[in-house]
Amino acid sequence: MAQEERSKHNEFTLEIITPERVVVEDEVESVVLSSPEGYFGILRNHAPFIGGLNIGVLKYRKDGKLHWVASDNGVFEMSGNKLRVMTDAAERGEDINVLRAKQAYERARQRLDERRAGMDYLRAELALKRSLARIKAATGEGQSS
Ligand code: ATP
Repeated sequence: MAQEERSKHNEFTLEIITPERVVVEDEVESVVLSSPEGYFGILRNHAPFIGGLNIGVLKYRKDGKLHWVASDNGVFEMSGNKLRVMTDAAERGEDINVLRAKQAYERARQRLDERRAGMDYLRAELALKRSLARIKAATGEGQSS
């Protein structure tokens, strides 16, 4: 069986959508995402499943090449060889403005360090996590395999 033909048999559809746009719609070979239960690896023919998505980096493989997407909290559903990921915000690594993410990180870090009375701790913590995910997705940091 030709290499190309064999790889098609391994594929399933990945769709990552936000309320604003379709961030990814592609045929992929594997996905690893972060859920409250831990890292979750998904291949073709995975059993139907609904789960939560953490703020973090979703990694997928397409034509043997790895791609990284930063995401906010959300949900995912695997069904009929289609993985649908729904989240408030997601960005492909190559579309991330790293300077903006680093500035968001510094702002959130400063708020958390100062801990002023009346500050929204959770909001700052979520902003910190989103910015870190964006920096990681843009650089592929710690996600080489
Ligand atoms: P910031 O403080 O920089 O706005 P944020 O975490 O508050 O960061 P969000 O509210 O999560 O930003 O996102 C608002 C919109 O901006 C979304 O569409 C998101 O995809 C986009 N976005 C946020 N940060 C970046 C970035 N560093 N690069 C590209 N797009 C980004």
